[in-house]
Amino acid sequence: MTSLTQKIHFAPAFPIPDYLVGEVQSKLAYVDENIRAAQVSPNGDDIQLTFGNAIDEEEKKLIESKVQRVVTSLVKGAFKPKVQILEDYLDRPLPYREDPMAELLRRGELSEEASGVYALGPLLTRLINWFESRFVALADSFSAQPYRFPTLIPARYMERVGYFRAFPHSLSFATHLHSELDNIDQFAQHAACDEQGNLNVPMERFAQFKALLSPAVCYHLYFALADKPLPNGRVTATAVGNCFRYESSNLTSLERLWNFTMREVIFVGPKEFVLENREIARQRMQKVFAEIGLAYRVESANDPFFIGEFRKQVAFQSAFQLKYEIRARLPFKDSTLAVGSYNYHQDFFGRHLNITLPDGSPTHTGCVAFGLERIAFAFLAQFGFDTAKWPKVIKESI
Ligand code: 5GP
Ligand code: ZN
Repeated sequence: MTSLTQKIHFAPAFPIPDYLVGEVQSKLAYVDENIRAAQVSPNGDDIQLTFGNAIDEEEKKLIESKVQRVVTSLVKGAFKPKVQILEDYLDRPLPYREDPMAELLRRGELSEEASGVYALGPLLTRLINWFESRFVALADSFSAQPYRFPTLIPARYMERVGYFRAFPHSLSFATHLHSELDNIDQFAQHAACDEQGNLNVPMERFAQFKALLSPAVCYHLYFALADKPLPNGRVTATAVGNCFRYESSNLTSLERLWNFTMREVIFVGPKEFVLENREIARQRMQKVFAEIGLAYRVESANDPFFIGEFRKQVAFQSAFQLKYEIRARLPFKDSTLAVGSYNYHQDFFGRHLNITLPDGSPTHTGCVAFGLERIAFAFLAQFGFDTAKWPKVIKESI
């Protein structure tokens, strides 16, 4: 079978500044379903889209107008956010420089079930368990209470916290067949997948969407605490869970998954309580990363908002320093990968979900979140597969 691809170039309506190249590139993946890859040239004056099918002139015009919509809404009037660096250990010496993906696939450590969905083998699982033990130790150091949350999250919860407007592009929905005998019978007899894995079942057979696949762990805690006074005026909790963010053609390796797992330590209470604990958590993790010799830095960051919300929200997050990311070095591509984040949401969830402090004011919240697949991937990208070259603490215990 030959696979037909077509590359199209566009000149962006506004030159794309270097600090927005990555953001524009990842949002272009959502312009059209047939886009296989989107690339912005490093100097920001050329956009290349690769399509899995042939594109005629008319389609090209339509696509160009969408491309320019993305460019305009992200770039026009944008200003460079001041990046604040809290820790910089990017130049720690490292024994490895290769991309671990090929070796992981060769060893059967990874099997790709679908784009952005992988089963992990024993080496990755043991590494993740090791990091998990450190994250749980961090949670224990705050006497965080353990929780378990479902993978599904109700649509009405997500609506209540404005998620539809902020991140519509990354939502994943869950449904089921209409509970009607003929419908179920028909499905049982005729349901089949085509070569691309698409089910041949029309949407009318499915029930209205009431649930989504959860995009984060901490939301579940805020909903459990909604519409009442906060017990004792503060809650510290921890949980691990599956998270889902649909990333379209950006899903290329363990770096970006549709289905990944996150461990969070969550602080709910007065402003100072949340901010102080976020800072203490950062300092405690700094020691853990030093012990391993991980090359990384911690810097201010923003969430990947949808184009319509992007500039406003990014300016807001930057101005109030609401997010810091732990960015681990990936030597094989001379870049960094966010393996975790330290977040402060101010009283956003307290206000929207009516969670009150003893004085009647809305609570503040914050969370420390670690991406488990990403930390294991970054570790292997830095230390490789020869365990003799691994940090002693990890070598000894896995
Ligand atoms: P945040 O809530 O800061 O966006 O996500 C917390 C952490 O989850 C990130 O720092 C990252 O480690 C992990 N994470 C977020 N999105 C993805 C993704 O698409 N793939 C993978 N593997 N991890 C992710
Ligand atoms: Zn969180």
